[in-house]
Amino acid sequence: LSDKLDKAFHVLKGHGSITEINVAETLKEVRRALLDADVNYKIAKDFTAKVKDEAIGQDVLTTLNPGQLMVKIVKDELAQLMGGEASGINLSGNPSIILMSGLQGSGKTTFSGKLALFLKNKKSKQPLLVACDVYRPAAINQLKVVGEQIGVEVYTEEDNKNPVEIAQNAIKYAKANGKNTVIIDTAGRLAVDEEMMNEISNIHKAIQPQETLFVVDSMTGQDAVNTAKAFNDILNFDGVILTKLDGDTRGGAALSIKSVVNKPIKFIGTGEKMEAIDIFYPERMAERILGMGDVISLVERAQEQYDEEEARKLQKKIAKDEFGFDDFLKQIQQIKKMGNMKDLVGMIPGAGKMMKDVDIDDDAFKGIEAMIHSMTPQERSNPALINGSRKKRIAKGSGNQVQEVNQLLKQFSQMSKMMKMMQGGGAKKMMQMMKG
Ligand code: GDP
Ligand code: MG
Repeated sequence: LSDKLDKAFHVLKGHGSITEINVAETLKEVRRALLDADVNYKIAKDFTAKVKDEAIGQDVLTTLNPGQLMVKIVKDELAQLMGGEASGINLSGNPSIILMSGLQGSGKTTFSGKLALFLKNKKSKQPLLVACDVYRPAAINQLKVVGEQIGVEVYTEEDNKNPVEIAQNAIKYAKANGKNTVIIDTAGRLAVDEEMMNEISNIHKAIQPQETLFVVDSMTGQDAVNTAKAFNDILNFDGVILTKLDGDTRGGAALSIKSVVNKPIKFIGTGEKMEAIDIFYPERMAERILGMGDVISLVERAQEQYDEEEARKLQKKIAKDEFGFDDFLKQIQQIKKMGNMKDLVGMIPGAGKMMKDVDIDDDAFKGIEAMIHSMTPQERSNPALINGSRKKRIAKGSGNQVQEVNQLLKQFSQMSKMMKMMQGGGAKKMMQMMKG
């Protein structure tokens, strides 16, 4: 029995099932992190509500503490939301036609160059870049400079103001000149307007690209949702390109856009150089959005506060000599809620090896619980009442020997004394000792 109590104490140190209280605290931090990362408010709210349902009642059977486990649940859920099916670029056409869309300054021209270089080097493609931004001469020049830099031909028609014609001619040119991938860079405007939408829609209809990509600046923040929706309504695009992730933006736009248009994020841009392109990894993005280190430390602080509150309640009881078998029973039930005993003991650092040969069954507390249940409420709150005849009654009622009742009482009184002794140091000290 003494062994069992020792084990119970060891386990208590683990402090760990996910309760309503620590879930609420943690989700508050997560929601704050999402908003800080510029995730759309409603999406952040829906997301945390969903995670809450998933988290409550989860047993902590790993080496993580409940706060860390919560963060893991959040991270996995985020990654799943942003991920979905693995999605490369559709290169099945001959030539394959890729159309860029997005606002001015989002990074279409830069990304067109990056993608051309990526397909040339990694997929052995022969790309052709097409300049369909007919409004600004500088835009055509910009693409030419990019093409020169990466050794990819750029198709232009400097005197033609009709982007649909240019795109169609470019495709003909590609077929005639052995280019198997056509990347069409288009004009954008500073905000969504009808003219831009009509133009991109007309190009899209005329050339029927295998792949239409929506390019968005990751620093756009809350507005990204509306822009993405507007473009998707017209183009039903195939994927999202998130640029400028080399800045200090946390990239909440990724989550917002994915939630609203449900299209895969395919690539990210991480700099102005042509090599600064990366395949999109949902997990990395989730960590970035959560600002992983920050959230973990915030969650841990919230957890500490929760511990202290519990400890303060307990401390009050001990001070008033009110700690009784009912409190003890509550703690045992708490421990049992945490899950399988063997797993739990295994998660105490160092204990795993030590206890390898000791058989701990899940019913380790059955005897103790039975004895406490056989006590009257008066006996539970005031164990001093338990005399010889009461001991006999408790033993009989719980199917134990009097000797075992004696042991339980002895252990309990030692524990109470110890707790009273520790009290001088305050709640924090006590929780520290319990935690080891
Ligand atoms: P467009 O108007 O959509 O064609 O956008 P541009 O490709 O001209 O890009 C606008 C500006 O953003 C340029 O100064 C680019 O150098 C810069 N830019 C584009 N992508 C990135 C990126 O991933 N990181 C950084 N830091 N700058 C970028
Ligand atoms: Mg451009």
